[in-house]
Amino acid sequence: MALHLYRETDYSRYTSTTAYPTEEEERRQKEEMQTAEGLVSELALKLGHAPTCCVVTFGCQMNARDSEKILGVLKAVGYQETDSEDEADLVVYNTCTVRDNANQRVYGRLGHLHAMKKKNPAKRIALCGCMIQEPDVIEKIRSSYRFVDLLFGTHNLYKFPELLKKMLESDHMIIDVWKQADTIVEDLPVVRKYPFKSGVNIMFGCDNYCTYCIVPYVRGRERSRASKEILREVERLAAEGVSEVMLLGQNVNSYGSGLNGELSFPQLLQEVEKVEGIRRIRFMTSHPKDLSEELIAVMRDSKKICRHLHLPVQSGSTEVLRKMNRHYTREQYLALVARLRREIPDLSLTTDIIVGFPSETREDLEETIRLVEEVGYDNAFTFIYSPRTGTPAASWPMQMSEEEISEGFERLLKVVQEKARESVAKLTGRTEEALVEEVNSHDASLVTGRLSNNVLVHFPGDASMIGQYHQVKLKENRGFYFIGEKV
Ligand code: SF4
Repeated sequence: MALHLYRETDYSRYTSTTAYPTEEEERRQKEEMQTAEGLVSELALKLGHAPTCCVVTFGCQMNARDSEKILGVLKAVGYQETDSEDEADLVVYNTCTVRDNANQRVYGRLGHLHAMKKKNPAKRIALCGCMIQEPDVIEKIRSSYRFVDLLFGTHNLYKFPELLKKMLESDHMIIDVWKQADTIVEDLPVVRKYPFKSGVNIMFGCDNYCTYCIVPYVRGRERSRASKEILREVERLAAEGVSEVMLLGQNVNSYGSGLNGELSFPQLLQEVEKVEGIRRIRFMTSHPKDLSEELIAVMRDSKKICRHLHLPVQSGSTEVLRKMNRHYTREQYLALVARLRREIPDLSLTTDIIVGFPSETREDLEETIRLVEEVGYDNAFTFIYSPRTGTPAASWPMQMSEEEISEGFERLLKVVQEKARESVAKLTGRTEEALVEEVNSHDASLVTGRLSNNVLVHFPGDASMIGQYHQVKLKENRGFYFIGEKV
């Protein structure tokens, strides 16, 4: 029988720092940052240049947000950012472990970094994120990747200033990985990737224990941030020029549960909507079982909540959904989609689908394909099931052969793409508001803008338009995106 990782593991072996009450912890980490700043200045003298850092993110939006915090601390203590892993004096890999190929990519890239470190012995390498919460991974890195300088997990990211300082003072591997989070520290510096949009964590962890998913074991139990802290952060972001926020959590629909007197997620959205300067609100991810009537009504009536909902279905078979522990049936999911379409007709729907879950049969997979045809998603992220050690499903026997899985996967992908193209093409000829995000990487005479429904449009423009909203006519559909013209 599969056991939960945290029951199997004595994390005290990997824990070297201590938790303090929140305010004291914030004060301590600020002090640690000052010490780290001194150490980075000394390092700059030794190297003859300001030390450079490269933070590489694997995985989801939550990780992307964590990387912004890591980079925020590094810049605050004197590192300069570079895109070059080869040249950086410090490389941080913020890892993902949702699928095994994400782990393998990290190991592969570590081999290359080792060669770089041999050329530049002052180079430092840090690993953090979900993969590092896995004891097998820690042991593997301890034994086979001894050139790594720092390992820390998802629960003590807020201690990064202290861990960075320890790493800079030490010449051996520092490991600090906790079994669970004890506190939410609010005030660490952040460097945002985009000046005009930002993720905002509203909760951490997950209590759902889908039988294929490692997240509850590596990200811990669900903890919501206090709404007043979230709103304070959104107000500060708006004052700094951010106009689009993405509220982040593994299951935002259960925001506030377990916190007495806290707002529900729809109520939180309504409060965020009141913040002056915020023009667009997005959120991710919504579990279908917790998506309420109240949320549909708030989305319908909102002027700021984007017309896009990511609603992971995972499978179109009720039996597979039951084994996945998803707590909804195919019929309930379809009824929810019908309600959403009725109330918010211009809503763009995207989803996640797993193919090859252990109990899945060919008929189950056919049901998933039929569901995709019926819903007509605007996009779907399709994955072949990847067993994660410690999750219940990892020990269940497979029903389909590898050939059946990959043949079914290809067919599903085709249907997903056809339906997505049809759905996006319906917008052709319309004029929509786009937020300009960047100059197009293939053609510098174009800029790339994102519509409220998350579809991209490329249209003539220049860098001065980045961060601005423009009305754009969607002239030519190119599959999943448009070529447009500013009106
Ligand atoms: S809801 Fe399920 S799939 Fe999503 S993070 Fe939680 S356990 Fe994983």
